[in-house]
Amino acid sequence: MLKKLVLFDIDGTLLTVSKINRKVLVDALTEVYGTPGSAETHNFCGKMDSVIIYEVLQSAGLGEGEIGEKFERVKACYIELFRQHARASDVCLMEGIGKLLHELSGRREVMVGLLTGNFEASGRHKLLLPEINHYFPFGAFADDAPSRNELPAVAVEKARQLTGKTFTEHDIIIIGDTEHDISCARVLNAKSIAVATGNFSTEELKKHHPHVLYENLGRTDVVVNEILYSSII
Ligand SMILES: [Mg+2]
Repeated sequence: MLKKLVLFDIDGTLLTVSKINRKVLVDALTEVYGTPGSAETHNFCGKMDSVIIYEVLQSAGLGEGEIGEKFERVKACYIELFRQHARASDVCLMEGIGKLLHELSGRREVMVGLLTGNFEASGRHKLLLPEINHYFPFGAFADDAPSRNELPAVAVEKARQLTGKTFTEHDIIIIGDTEHDISCARVLNAKSIAVATGNFSTEELKKHHPHVLYENLGRTDVVVNEILYSSII
């Protein structure tokens, strides 16, 4: 019987993408707005793609209205450039991810999904390149809500539509590499598993009080056990 809903972040958690991601965003912004804003140096970690676009352009002095007018164009341009230029060699899976996803896919009590700041089309392409996209029947993406903390409820609703089951707080696990993923778990009172495979160390992540903290997701049996059996109450 289906018991647990596990929601994975993408960048820094499942995989890492080479500089191509930033490069195509810079190119898309330049093509549509005539400036990349601060995209060459801006901190993207744990942020929604949509929020990043607003932040980098606002730092170059553009107003919200001006950005909003061409937002759909820049989004389409970024996605198209990313699909065109990103190759399998640009994506590196984090330690243990292939094995963990394979193991979870064999468990009938677990439903796996995505909770990510990526736009769906570019996020799916990141997963297709290392051939892990098929593990994720659904997800909540930057397209689904204006802020990341609204995504957990979207994910729960999409899971309900697919399975007929409404997952409640104690059945939901959110796995990610930044404080933003921990905060998403807090929104639902769900269990947060933080992992230091992105840009933040275990010491930095500890300050945000995740329920569980790992260096990486390499110990499949430990992680699966935590997902299936360990309660936060
Ligand atoms: Mg991340």
